[in-house]
Amino acid sequence: MRLILLGPPGAGKGTQAKLLKEKFKIPQISTGDILRNAVKNNTALGVQADSFMAAGQLVPDDVVIGLIKERIKRDDCDPGFILDGFPRTIVQADKLSETLEAMNLALDRVVDLEVDPEEVINRLTGRSTCSECGGMFHEESRKPKVAHVCDCCGGALAQRQDDNKATILKRLDVYQESTAPLKEFYKKQGNLGTVSAKGSVEEIFSRICELVT
Ligand code: ADP
Ligand code: ZN
Repeated sequence: MRLILLGPPGAGKGTQAKLLKEKFKIPQISTGDILRNAVKNNTALGVQADSFMAAGQLVPDDVVIGLIKERIKRDDCDPGFILDGFPRTIVQADKLSETLEAMNLALDRVVDLEVDPEEVINRLTGRSTCSECGGMFHEESRKPKVAHVCDCCGGALAQRQDDNKATILKRLDVYQESTAPLKEFYKKQGNLGTVSAKGSVEEIFSRICELVT
């Protein structure tokens, strides 16, 4: 199964992608995670991406496209994949279609997670992530048992550098301008499905499962 998760920052793409990965035994490919790792490890890719990410702007198309092309050709993607955070522009979506076509593959579903901007700001400003396992916490809705420590693995929790109010607003603008048009793009292709991203993680997950199975 080949899926794309669309939706604004804070819609819960990462959380839902992790659940889908477990259920369908297919890899989650998150460009945000790949880029953050590159920044953390100070690789050439990380050095290139860092200032864009810190400012809430998109990393240039050719950089992420190159990265995805390579990633979806790996063997573990034979049974399918979940793209989380890619594509984010029409250019990226076009290149993805081209790449898949050349491989004789098609997308099964594009799931659009819908959520209001106010809710996004609240979710992201209170969010922290485990530096070890990627587990997500929230100061109101999913408080860790011990402050700044992951419940699952004991790793240190950290706020993302781009989860501050000013950068969140910038990311929302970028989403409206560059990424929201992808809904129309995939609607025309006939594989868009829309899900409300309000409610509990489990509720949203079952809505997605209904769409994709
Ligand atoms: P969110 O969806 O919460 O904003 P992500 O982890 O998906 O977070 O992305 C974080 C940042 O990484 C983006 O603001 C952008 O700078 C960069 N990024 C991730 N995916 C892409 C992409 N497909 N194209 C360009 N930049 C990207
Ligand atoms: Zn953890």
